[in-house]
Amino acid sequence: MSDHETVPAEVDHEEEIPEDHPRYQDLITRHRIERGVEMGITHLQGMHAEGRGSAFDYLLGEETIPSADEAERAAAAHLLLADHPVLSINGNVAALVPEEMVELADVVGADLEVNLFNRTPERIQAIADHLRDHGAEDVKGITADARIPGLEHERSKVDADGIYDADVVLVPLEDGDRAEALDAMGKTEIVIDLNPLSRSPRVADVPIVDNIIRAVPNMTAHARELSEADEATLREIVDAFDPAAALEAAEARIRSGDLA
Ligand code: ATP
Repeated sequence: MSDHETVPAEVDHEEEIPEDHPRYQDLITRHRIERGVEMGITHLQGMHAEGRGSAFDYLLGEETIPSADEAERAAAAHLLLADHPVLSINGNVAALVPEEMVELADVVGADLEVNLFNRTPERIQAIADHLRDHGAEDVKGITADARIPGLEHERSKVDADGIYDADVVLVPLEDGDRAEALDAMGKTEIVIDLNPLSRSPRVADVPIVDNIIRAVPNMTAHARELSEADEATLREIVDAFDPAAALEAAEARIRSGDLA
């Protein structure tokens, strides 16, 4: 038995997880979600979502596959071209990548908006505070003065000067109904989801089949690299991206990947 298997099921601090553990990323992810639940920013259901994601990530080899890297580059180009890009934050996103979302928003000039499936004023506030603790200045989603057409009342709430007004939205780990409703509003939708068969990535203009922990920093790196690019170059990147091919490549990797 290797030393690695002695890592306790529950850890108090991320530092207790050895970096050379073969499932290091998965253990970090699980720990952050547990912390999120304890802090009141992540709903218990977020743990189930994380479990599903973790299984797909295992089958992907826990790495950013080439088609996901291409999608992350196309997503960065979309965000840079946008008039009003908005990054949507739910309880899992806030627990896993708060600082990374703030940084991406900064690099592409996007707004951050808290948008929850299980919406309560306490959780909205806790997430907004958590983002501010990680460097965010302006956090939207508290006013909730507009509605996404076609959704049940609580699920439809957004800010009029946030997601409602956005031309490009990044909706990581989004519920299928809301992804479809945002698509119907004509928005350019970027979805991060480890399950290529889930409805949300299937309605996205840019489906990113990758763990959000890897996807967001990689999008930021692409955005930095493209920050001086002219509009024609960015349009070329966006036009060359094929969402169906990206989903197929991810599914092929999951079905036939070598787990050795
Ligand atoms: P649908 O979109 O069809 O409603 P669902 O009910 O399976 O599907 P949700 O529970 O709404 O999905 O959202 C969870 C989704 O988020 C799952 O598809 C899961 O694979 C994905 N997911 C979970 N953790 C991560 C992560 N760390 N990075 C990327 N995707 C993740």
